[in-house]
Amino acid sequence: MQKIININSIFLSHEGEGIHLGKAQIFIRVQGCSLKCKNCDTPEALSFKNNKIFTIEEILEEINKINKKYKLINKRISITGGDPLDPSHKDAILDLIKVLKKKKYFINIEAAGNVINPQIFNLVDSISFDYKTPSAVSVNRRETLKSLSALPAVPALDLLKKLFLNKKYRDKLQIKSVIESKKDFLYVYSSYLQLSNSLLSSHPSHSSKNINLVNWILTPSYSLKMSESDFKKKFDKIFRWNLTLAGGAFRVIGQQHKWVYGTRKKNV
Ligand code: SF4
Repeated sequence: MQKIININSIFLSHEGEGIHLGKAQIFIRVQGCSLKCKNCDTPEALSFKNNKIFTIEEILEEINKINKKYKLINKRISITGGDPLDPSHKDAILDLIKVLKKKKYFINIEAAGNVINPQIFNLVDSISFDYKTPSAVSVNRRETLKSLSALPAVPALDLLKKLFLNKKYRDKLQIKSVIESKKDFLYVYSSYLQLSNSLLSSHPSHSSKNINLVNWILTPSYSLKMSESDFKKKFDKIFRWNLTLAGGAFRVIGQQHKWVYGTRKKNV
């Protein structure tokens, strides 16, 4: 029996952020995510109840319709969400990816950063892995972590280390961190240093140079209330922190679709 996937939308646009910025591609946005980040920019895709159920065959039909209409030259798909690696989606997503790979699509997966899925990560061409900052952590989760005296960075850093140590993943990996404040920046930079030290001590051949081979992207957060000049000021601060505090360790890339269309327009 064909597996089914709860879908928010399937649409054609240009990649708005990260290392594939500006490339035309079809987005498959999965419906449902259990992370509930405080600064989530796709709240409409969080609920698991909004059922628009598609079979894999039906998703392929949608993709074909778009291809037929636009006669796309490049076969690129980005699977995003919601959280495509959530336990309720991952098996069907794996089947979908297998079919798309047979059809020779370049596939990017947007991972929320809380899990490594080897079956999916081995198959896709590009992994975009979130590394959450303090301002992303939801209020409830922050309280829970505080009460457990746990550091939110530790499990996520362990995942990053596993990804970096696997050359197959490292070569197609980008890490994405949304930066709201200097606290976020320092948190990410401290994680970068911890990761670099940890790689160096466990595998001398994996020095901080290896981290520089990977794209770690800082994306300035963009809120509905923010004026354009305030946003530019924030962007400028992140550029300067990257240069003066982190020796230019990161790539700083904004979300161009939000500049062009604003934050309310969806599926662009
Ligand atoms: S992981 Fe992504 S989709 Fe899920 S709540 Fe966080 S930002 Fe939103």
